[in-house]
Amino acid sequence: MRSFILNENEMNELAKRQPTPFLVLSVDKVAENYAFLRKHLPRAGIYYAIKANPHPRALERLAALGSHFDVASAGEMEMLHAAGVDGSRMIYANPVHDARGFAAASRFGVKRFTFDDESEIPKLAAAAPGADVLVRVQVHNSKALVDLNTKFGAPLGSALPLLRKAEQAGLHAKGICFHVGSQSLSTAAYEEALLLVHHLFLEAEASGMHLTDLDIGGGFPIPSAEGLHVDLAAMLEAINRQLERLFPQTAVWTEPGRFLCGTAMNLVTSVIGTKQRGTFPWYILDEGIYGVFSGILFDHWTYPLHCFGNGAKTPSVFAGPSCDGIDVLYRDFPAPKLPIGANVLVSDIGAYTTVSATRFNGFEPAAVLVWEDQADLVAKRRKLREADEASSA
Ligand code: PLP
Repeated sequence: MRSFILNENEMNELAKRQPTPFLVLSVDKVAENYAFLRKHLPRAGIYYAIKANPHPRALERLAALGSHFDVASAGEMEMLHAAGVDGSRMIYANPVHDARGFAAASRFGVKRFTFDDESEIPKLAAAAPGADVLVRVQVHNSKALVDLNTKFGAPLGSALPLLRKAEQAGLHAKGICFHVGSQSLSTAAYEEALLLVHHLFLEAEASGMHLTDLDIGGGFPIPSAEGLHVDLAAMLEAINRQLERLFPQTAVWTEPGRFLCGTAMNLVTSVIGTKQRGTFPWYILDEGIYGVFSGILFDHWTYPLHCFGNGAKTPSVFAGPSCDGIDVLYRDFPAPKLPIGANVLVSDIGAYTTVSATRFNGFEPAAVLVWEDQADLVAKRRKLREADEASSA
């Protein structure tokens, strides 16, 4: 699975059309990632977790492919409504719901909710009587970059009592959901969670409560991050086998965010200042930690940086444009000497980046170009690929 990565010529050509900093989103790559998940995890329907990247063109493309959507707030439901998606294709999967969220759910016809505490039951029963609910349980996984099981998830032992209370309150207890944590490198974490939840399904059945739905959350990793090469097809196929074995009759869903959009976006940013500090050249870029690089802080992520140019590479520091000392992006990065005005490229920057960017210091958010709209460059790339394939055949 290759990430979408512009080459130097494409980057510079686009920089003539759009001032830096800007992002380039490939909606075909999002579609390819969606197809990959469908192929290797066919037992699970997809709710795209739009929190990762709600760009309208990504939403429209996924909607056209038949995707459903995971939403966390009224704002996310409104974005989907604007993209023409009906509430029946959404799950309100933030276990704590607010009044605006309930109002939007009622307006758009969202009838599926998750929760992980008794205190949500009367709220749900009042705002969404008769709604379908899934209880979110806590699962453990030390091999996830982002922990989602300290703040979220009911202890396993309280899952069925919570579902029973939900039924008594007039809600429809549909099933169970979990999230093993984001950028999970562990297949075993899913397999273990499935075993535990399978016991809960059996226990529920024995007590007369028939659960029909299982939601295995997101967490699927960007497979080549940080020099790793996770065999994602093998990971998904192992999960699929476990689902076939343990949940042959259950409706299964997943909520991928990062995997669908992470590898589909590039950032083009340019050097606006330089300085020498001891032996280190410093390059100040026109995009920083308060912008698209916010994921360094919020998502614990390091994005691949691509510098072009010949000449010896020396360990260099790259920083953002703000007046804050925390705004340092890369240290000890081997880079050739870069003049002011040089463009650099950052790949795998499509998930949890634009969504948490701020306007600190008055810097505008980076514009987003859609790669497939650049027909001339797309055609050129296709020709190059065809020539490559012909010469290697
Ligand atoms: N579902 C829920 C409830 C989440 O909180 C998240 C991420 O925070 C996701 C899905 C998406 O997870 P990922 O991007 O790891 O696939």
